[in-house]
Amino acid sequence: MVKKVEIFDSSLRDGAQAGGISFSVEDKLKIVKALDKLGVSYVEAGNPGSNIKDHQFFKKVKKINLENTILVAFGSTRRKGISVDEDSNVKSLLEAETPSVAIFGKTWDLHVTDIIKTGLEENLSMIEETIRFFKTNQKEVIFDAEHFFDGYKNNPEYALKALKAAVSGGADCLVLCDTNGGAFPDEVFKITEKVVKSFPIKVGVHCHNDCGMAVANSIMAVEAGAVHIQGTYIGYGERCGNTNLSTIIPNLQLKKQISCIKDDQLVNLMSTARFIGEISNITLDERSPYVGNNAFAHKGGMHIDGVCKVPRSFEHISPENVGNNRRFLMSEVSGKNTVLTKIQKIDKEITKNSAETQKITDELKTMENKGYQFEGAEASFELLIRKQLGKYKPFFKVNYFKIIEEEPSRDEDSSSSVLIKIKVDEKEEMTAAEGNGPVNAVDKALRKALEVFYPSLKEVYLTDYKVRVLDAEEATGANVRVLIESSDGKNSWSTVGVSTNIIKASLIALVDSIEYKLISDNENNKEGKINYGNDNDSKDTSLPCRAGIC
Ligand SMILES: [Zn+2]
Repeated sequence: MVKKVEIFDSSLRDGAQAGGISFSVEDKLKIVKALDKLGVSYVEAGNPGSNIKDHQFFKKVKKINLENTILVAFGSTRRKGISVDEDSNVKSLLEAETPSVAIFGKTWDLHVTDIIKTGLEENLSMIEETIRFFKTNQKEVIFDAEHFFDGYKNNPEYALKALKAAVSGGADCLVLCDTNGGAFPDEVFKITEKVVKSFPIKVGVHCHNDCGMAVANSIMAVEAGAVHIQGTYIGYGERCGNTNLSTIIPNLQLKKQISCIKDDQLVNLMSTARFIGEISNITLDERSPYVGNNAFAHKGGMHIDGVCKVPRSFEHISPENVGNNRRFLMSEVSGKNTVLTKIQKIDKEITKNSAETQKITDELKTMENKGYQFEGAEASFELLIRKQLGKYKPFFKVNYFKIIEEEPSRDEDSSSSVLIKIKVDEKEEMTAAEGNGPVNAVDKALRKALEVFYPSLKEVYLTDYKVRVLDAEEATGANVRVLIESSDGKNSWSTVGVSTNIIKASLIALVDSIEYKLISDNENNKEGKINYGNDNDSKDTSLPCRAGIC
């Protein structure tokens, strides 16, 4: 078994071929720097001949001092029927001035005869001559053997001849590509083993994920002797994507003791995944192994209890190893421990066996049956606890509101008008407001009326508003769940409302949001603090595992 493999990231080339991805030059530079910091061996950054953006990128990237990463430009073998010197794409690859080039060539006879439509011998010359050209120009040459596994299955003799041509041309590494993503781990093992035994140079693997096998196939290739793995950092790429490097790096490094990046860089795996997702404008799948937010999130009560006693009872590695965190999600199945942590934030005297704990757990179940979900609405859950503990006094009451809709609207920002009447202590206040929709108008009117009594509400604004239809088969009679996030510039908090009426659900969430702000202000006044709460506490749905509670 090898002890070190090279990681070759193609997020900027193969990854850029994924639907919905488009990088600016600045985006690409940022990603190169992040991957260099993480310590991946190679970054394939595109084809300078393919477009102006890539051309500009290669010009700018030369000015960056890379510490760990070798930059690679990507292109194909020369076109059929011309000499290498005549091929403009080959020339533009040289102009990128990267120390290394990745050259792809055909190894599946079907592609030679039926797709690029040339002779089998001419294809071998195309491979050998192109590689020799770059070697003469002092480049490291990585040969991407396109469709190698399909080619080998169809005509092993020819597929191996293509590799032999690459080796004769002076290639430094043979990368076996499962371009269509249809290979299985046992095939990848056998075929890679054959190549490793046949050629005296480095062998690598480039897998696509069409069978959900890209990571498994790459690991089998390493088992068979491959020492170079190509993929994209968070797995995106053509169709179903490429080998996910953020999965395979910890798999090899933590499970197989095969080094991919420096050990002290493993803790940056998750933050790099978030960063690349952000720049690529891709929402990271929260179920992603190692780097997803849910990778170490526990919901079942038995699981939470187990993790608190012995973390490895329900975790395959420590989340900290890859820069992730353990989280306990709140729900009816999460059991008393999780709920208790929240209760004790409000009343430290209450224990696991107190009657109040049971009462709140029961109420949580009832609310979840109605469609509430508190995992993303900690502020509403805190209010629920206060209500059950008798530590809640409403700050106001909404007597009624009326909505007037204007259709077609003369002005988008005032298409809805709301008249609202509220009561604070014994004083009533009636006010009206316009908004760009009924929810916006209700929010504005409610706040306008309340600001008369509670001036600090002027600081509050909505930062996010999400609606989810809960029982879609009921069509217009369905329950909707509204989740809103509010901020006062210093802290943010989330609240939830459920109703068959979207305005009513929104109002429940809005009222919770305002009450939470007023309660927090009150608490801090009592304690003489200027700030209230903790930004992370209110934003994050995770609960720390406290010694003595679990
Ligand atoms: Zn590919």
